[in-house]
Amino acid sequence: MTVDPNIKSQPPKLMRAIRNAMAGTESVQERLDDFVAAISKAMQVKVASIYLLRPGEDLELSATQGLKASAVHKTRMKPGEGLVGHVALTARPLNLADAPSHPLFSYRPETGEDPFKSFLGVPILRGGRTLGVLVVQSVAARSFNEEEVEDLLTVAMVLAEIIVDDERVGGKKAALKGITLVAFKPETIKGKTFANGLVQGHAYLHLPPVAPANMLAENIAAEEGRLEEGIAVLRASVDAMVSGETASLSRASKEIYETYRMFAYDRKWVGRLREAVHSGLTSEAAVERVRNEHRARLMKSRDPYLRARLHDLEDLANRLLRALSGEALGPGNKNISDDAIIFAREIGPAELLDYDRSKLRGIVLEEGSASSHTAIICRAIGVPLLGRAEGVLDLIEIGDEVLIDGEEACVHIRPLETQVSAFQMRLNIAGEMSRAYEALKFTPAKTVDNEPISLQLNAGLLVDLPQIEQSGADGIGLFRTEFQFMVSEFMPRLKEQTELYRKAIEAAGSRPVTFRTLDLGGDKILPYIDPVPEENPAIGWRAIRIALDRPGLMRYQLRALVAAGAGKHLKVMFPMVTTVEEFIQARALFDREVDRAKKLGEELPSKIEVGVMLETPSLAWSINSICDHADFVSVGANDLMQFFFAADRDNARVSDRYDPLHPAALSVMKYIAEGAARSGVPVSVCGEIAGRPIEAITLVALGYRQLSMPVTGIGPVKSALLKLDAAKLRQTLEPHITTESRLMTLRPIVREFCMEEGIPV
Ligand code: PEP
Ligand code: MG
Repeated sequence: MTVDPNIKSQPPKLMRAIRNAMAGTESVQERLDDFVAAISKAMQVKVASIYLLRPGEDLELSATQGLKASAVHKTRMKPGEGLVGHVALTARPLNLADAPSHPLFSYRPETGEDPFKSFLGVPILRGGRTLGVLVVQSVAARSFNEEEVEDLLTVAMVLAEIIVDDERVGGKKAALKGITLVAFKPETIKGKTFANGLVQGHAYLHLPPVAPANMLAENIAAEEGRLEEGIAVLRASVDAMVSGETASLSRASKEIYETYRMFAYDRKWVGRLREAVHSGLTSEAAVERVRNEHRARLMKSRDPYLRARLHDLEDLANRLLRALSGEALGPGNKNISDDAIIFAREIGPAELLDYDRSKLRGIVLEEGSASSHTAIICRAIGVPLLGRAEGVLDLIEIGDEVLIDGEEACVHIRPLETQVSAFQMRLNIAGEMSRAYEALKFTPAKTVDNEPISLQLNAGLLVDLPQIEQSGADGIGLFRTEFQFMVSEFMPRLKEQTELYRKAIEAAGSRPVTFRTLDLGGDKILPYIDPVPEENPAIGWRAIRIALDRPGLMRYQLRALVAAGAGKHLKVMFPMVTTVEEFIQARALFDREVDRAKKLGEELPSKIEVGVMLETPSLAWSINSICDHADFVSVGANDLMQFFFAADRDNARVSDRYDPLHPAALSVMKYIAEGAARSGVPVSVCGEIAGRPIEAITLVALGYRQLSMPVTGIGPVKSALLKLDAAKLRQTLEPHITTESRLMTLRPIVREFCMEEGIPV
C-alpha cells in the first residue's frame, strides 16, 4: 500500500471521539461506558460492547451501548463459544453481514440482541494475550468496510492500554467490578538455574518495548511521514548489518541479518504499520499494535521455527521504535534501576557486561545454557541466572516485581505478598549464611583431620579480579583467557592481552594464578572468526587442536603470558589435551617463547610451571605418562564428565542425566588423584563440581587438595570442609567406588554422612 499524505490529515471522527473519552478521569468502568457510547455514535451503529476475559478465562460483557444494561457483568461465555468467543480464541477480527446465520452464533436472550444482523468483533490485545473483545453490531445486514475494521482495531488497542494502565496504577480503585485482568496476575515460570542465588528486584527488558506515550496522532499526514522516516532508518541499519563487518566474518550472523532484512522489507509487515498509522495511531502505537497481533497469532503456533521468527520480528519492532525515538541504533539503553532483573531471550557476554554491575540483581532468559559464556560469567560475578524460562517475555512488563529462586529454578513475577514474605525470610537466612562465610574469609580451609585444602577462584575478566580479596580465595586456579577474546569486538592485541594477564597477577599478589590458554571452538565462538561448521563441535576442532594446527594465535598468547609474568611466578596450562604427545608439542611452543624473550633480553618470570588440563578420558588413562611431562594437572571436570558419560553439557535433556558422583566417575577421579600423587605432581579440580559442597568434600575424600571454583562456592565449600573428616568419608565411600557397583550415584551416602557429622551442605 502506498500512502498519499493528502488523503487525510485529521484523525477520523472515531479517533476524535475516543480522544475525548480518554480525557476523562473517571473510573475504568465509566470510561468503558464512555468508550462504547463514543464508538456507537461515531460509527453509527446501534450496538457497541466490550467483553473482557476474567481470570477463570470466561469472557464477560463489561460495558455496552445498545444491548440490555442488565446483561452487563452477567452475560458470560468461554473463549471459542459463540462469535465473541471465536474472536477471542483466534485473536482475529470477525466481520459478518448476517451474524445469526453463522454456525457459531449463540443466542443470548438476556442481552436483547435479536434485531441485530451485522457483527464486527475485534480482539483487544496486549502483549500477545487477548484481554477481551470489542464488538459493534447494527440492525441492517451490511458488512463493515476495511477502514472501519482498521479503526475498530485501533480503538481496541487504545482500550487495552487504558485498561491495563489503570489497573496497574490504580489497583483496587480501578478494578472493574470484580474483573481482574488475566494478563497481570502473579505468575511463576519454571526454568533452569544456570547461576544459583535468590534475588528480589524489578524487571527490566533487555530490549524494551517503548511505551506509546501518546497513542493517537495529532496529524495523520505528518505521522505517516514519521513512520516512513523510521522505516528508512531501520532498513538502512539492517542493510548495514547485512553488509557489515560482523556479517562478513561469520556465516551464522549473516543468516540472522538476512532474515532481519527480509522482515524489514516485508511488504505485509510494513503495510500493516502504514494502515495502523493511517487509522490514527502514532507510529509507536502502530508498532505496538502490529507486534501484538503477531504475538497473539504466532504464540499459538506450535512450530518452533515460526515462534523463533516471532522473536526476530520483536527485535525488529524494537529497533524500529528506537529509530522512531531518534536513538542511534547501537546497544540498548543501559540506564537501569538499582535492583534490575534483566529479561531477555538471549544475552551475550558483552551485552551483559554493558550493564552497571552494581545495579544488576539477576537475569532471566528464555533460552541460554548452563555452560554458555553468559552463564559462566554470571556465576563468576555472582549474578543469579535463570535460563530456559519459556514464554516469560510475554508475561513480563517493565517494572514488575520479580523474585528469582535459583534453588527452585523458577521466577515469580508480580508475586503475592505471602510469596514475598516467605522469600524474604529465605533471603535473610541466606544473608546470615553469607555473613557467616564472610567471617570465615581469613580462616584457612582445613579439614578436621588437618588436611589443608587450597580453595581458588575461576576467573577470566578484569571484573573478576576484586573477588580474590573479597572471597579470601587462595589464588586463581583457572583463568579462562578466552573470555577476553569472547567479549571483545575485535581480536585483542598483544598489548591488551599482556595488560590483562599482568593485572590478574598483580591482583593475586603472592597467590598463584593459573592461566589456561585459549579454549576456543565447541561452544566458545569468537564474533570475529567464522566458526568452521562441524557435526559435533564439542568433540571437533577445538582448543589445543586448533592451537597446534595453527600455532600463530597461541604463540602470540604465550608471548603475552611470558611478558606479563616478568619477575613473577607464571603458571600456564593447556586445555583439551587428549594425548601426551599433544602436551609435549604445546609445551615446546611455550619454551620457544621463553627462549625468544631470553634472546631479546626481556625479563623472564621468576618461576614457570606448565601444566595440563585433564578433560578427556584418554588423558586420564595416561596419568602416569602425562605426569612425567607436566608440572601440574588440573581436572576440567565439566568436560571430563561430558566425555565420560557421552552427555552434552549444553543439552538440557542430557546434561543432568548422570551424576558426577556415579561410582564409575568417582573411580576415574580417584585414579587420577592417586596417579598424580604417586608421581608427586600437584593435582586440582577446576570444573563446576569443585564449587558444590557435597561434590567438593567427596573430591577431598578422594585425595584432591586443591579446588578451583566460582566465587559463590568458596564460602559454602569452606564451611563444609571445616567440619569434614576426610579420611572418614574416604573410608565410607571406598567400598562403593568399584567397577562392580550398580548404584547410579553415591550422593545419598555422602548426604547421610554429612547429616551424621553435622557438615553443612
Ligand atoms: C572444564 O571443562 O571443567 C573446565 C573447567 O573448563 P571449561 O568449563 O571452561 O570448559
Ligand atoms: Mg573444559
